[in-house]
Amino acid sequence: MTTTTLSDAAGRDPVCTLSYIHPKADSPWLTYLAQVDRVLPHLGPLARWGETLKRPKRSLIVDVPIEMDDGSVQHFEGYRVQHNLSRGPGKGGVRYHPDVTLEEVMALSAWMTIKNAAVGLPYGGAKGGIRVSPSKLSRKELERLTRRYTSEIGIIIGPQQDIPAPDVNTNSQIMAWMMDTYSMNVGATATGVVTGKPIPLGGSLGRVKATGRGVFVTGSEALRRLKLDRKGLRIAVQGFGNVGGTAAELFAQSGSLIVAVQDHTGTILNDKGMDVSALQRHVAEKGGVSGFPGAQAAPNADFWAAPCDVLIPAALEGQITAERARSTTAKLILEGANGPTLPAADDVLASRGILVVPDVICNAGGVTVSYFEWVQDFSSFFWDEDDINARLDKILGNALARVWDTADQLHVSLRTAAFVVACERVLQAREERGLYP
Ligand code: NAD
Repeated sequence: MTTTTLSDAAGRDPVCTLSYIHPKADSPWLTYLAQVDRVLPHLGPLARWGETLKRPKRSLIVDVPIEMDDGSVQHFEGYRVQHNLSRGPGKGGVRYHPDVTLEEVMALSAWMTIKNAAVGLPYGGAKGGIRVSPSKLSRKELERLTRRYTSEIGIIIGPQQDIPAPDVNTNSQIMAWMMDTYSMNVGATATGVVTGKPIPLGGSLGRVKATGRGVFVTGSEALRRLKLDRKGLRIAVQGFGNVGGTAAELFAQSGSLIVAVQDHTGTILNDKGMDVSALQRHVAEKGGVSGFPGAQAAPNADFWAAPCDVLIPAALEGQITAERARSTTAKLILEGANGPTLPAADDVLASRGILVVPDVICNAGGVTVSYFEWVQDFSSFFWDEDDINARLDKILGNALARVWDTADQLHVSLRTAAFVVACERVLQAREERGLYP
């Protein structure tokens, strides 16, 4: 049995007791376990079910062999983890990245359990991924990889079982291939098996920008409560993809200044604010922010101390370390990414009075509109974009208000409060369903 510990500021040690996982100190799974440990004291009698949260219900590892364009055969490692299904079918994205591991997918699936419950969506939590550098594959190779992966995980996904969606390096085209492959295998068109599809294949209006919009909506509400004006506000964004790019666009449109951007190609700064539309065109053409003429290039380390009022991590997990938390000048952090803040950094931010709107609320816009897409697919009745955005804003606004009230009542951070709300819902469902057999 493996026992790996990572002390948090309160001296509690999250312990991974799963024999198949050997987490490193900054592992996302240990981050998640530390977050759960902070919540258990607030759960009363439901805490007896707490171990449920520390064990994924089902983890599938698949071999994904494909024939490359040059005739060789390559094997890739794929995963689909269903962390918890107590409240409904699994829901969560699929990530293509060379650093994907089972442990990372476990953490991401667990955060989906928390997110879906915190927002009140009728889903459990799941996530998938393939260890691959998609930019090194041709389009045909990417299609073969996606189709073979879908066939391999086909034994556990389905419109009523587990519904994948896009995540890092996956998009609506990949969802279209997944939907087609699953449909061919079951012999019927099953649009509800994935969300984030192209509109003509049962996709939803508003889905592409939904996560970034959610960051903007929850961020604007947090700013209102902090009595900070969006106009002239200086924002630093890490990750300029689907989430970071959209959040930056919406904040810039409302008068904020995007003063620092970092992505996998480098860091750029401009204290007068960047032209976000021009930066989006540059990224679409060049594949990254590096070389953008409307800003100055800077070393990556400078990003974290760049003068700003708001920091939006929207790339990968584990980015805000205790050291970076000490150097940031932001007053507010909006977690567009999943799991961007390490537990030790959370403590530093709290001691410095820096507010964090946690991922499980802040970036829940994507899964909320995915839920709308799934509902529309089942009813074959599609809503207009105004309807979708209005419903999205209302659901996120209510979820944030509930979490804020809980934080005030319990004197805890918004993250712990979101976990309290979510874990109560998950464990209540667990208790009411009972253990079978
Ligand atoms: P994306 O692939 O569209 O963009 C990812 C961005 O991160 C890119 O700009 C990339 O350059 C940058 N990046 C990658 N590695 C980096 C590194 N080492 N340093 C700095 N930047 C780096 O992905 P996305 O969909 O925007 O997802 C970003 C984050 O948001 C992820 O944590 C994802 O899980 C989370 N998220 C996405 C959605 C969604 O609907 N797409 C929903 C909820 C949460």
